[in-house]
Amino acid sequence: MIQDLPMGRLENTYQNAAPSSGSRILCFLEGRALIRREEDDSLQLPSFSVWKGWKGESGRADVRREASFRYLFRIAGTEYYLWLGRPVPEADVREEGYHYEKVGALRQLVSKDVCFAVMTAWHLAAWYRDNRYCGRCGKETAHDGKERMLRCPSCGNMIFPKIAPAVIVAVTDHDRILLSKYADRDYKKYALLAGFTEIGETAEETVRREVMEEVGLRVKNIRYYKSQPWGVDSNLLLGFFCELDGEDRIDMDTRELALAEWFDRGNLPAHDDGISLTREMMRIFEEGRN
Ligand SMILES: [Zn+2]
Repeated sequence: MIQDLPMGRLENTYQNAAPSSGSRILCFLEGRALIRREEDDSLQLPSFSVWKGWKGESGRADVRREASFRYLFRIAGTEYYLWLGRPVPEADVREEGYHYEKVGALRQLVSKDVCFAVMTAWHLAAWYRDNRYCGRCGKETAHDGKERMLRCPSCGNMIFPKIAPAVIVAVTDHDRILLSKYADRDYKKYALLAGFTEIGETAEETVRREVMEEVGLRVKNIRYYKSQPWGVDSNLLLGFFCELDGEDRIDMDTRELALAEWFDRGNLPAHDDGISLTREMMRIFEEGRN
């Protein structure tokens, strides 16, 4: 999966620190990340030393140093920082091969570390963007010096990073598995059923409710498989396998799904892409391991 990096796990302990020359800089513009795509399709984020050399609209290079950066995390010794100033205009850096690409579209194996870094950085960037002001009293928030937390200096409100739990559900019936396609999403390939956990319910209850809402089926023997951070939508995905309980007739919710069908083991239309929990779960079923 995308978080399983051969070079080591993402380390997310917060540091009150500033970038050094080898640090990578994340700059976002409307859900897109500033990135360079090499000829072999690998991806590069600008290093701080490259970043410092870029001239701003005023023609002064130092505007890129003055505004602040926020430490994000570290992967295999490389630190990643979020640029908090105005996004770099694409025209300023196009000659060096940099451009903006949609965060959700970046999923590949060649630069899995960069894809995971961008996705996770976007989760944090969206949280910072949406919490500049206190939701309780409306005053501007300030970053805590020790941990990843925003604090309201006026009313004392403490705001911690927000993660939305959601379930991915593989419904099986002996040698069959239920696959679906979303109705209104960019992602057009086969997927497993999925949905957000509502306040007040357990993840297992989410599984039962989502399966009933989306395809009208009852399920039993719900087993947790694995989880996956999915920063594109601020999610933590929780994967579950479960079995059909009773009638197998699908009553599809056409607002959510474009298609829902049973597929036989050995004849699945999608395979493990090394990125998503959904695809890994399809492979596990295909191999007869669940
Ligand atoms: Zn407040």
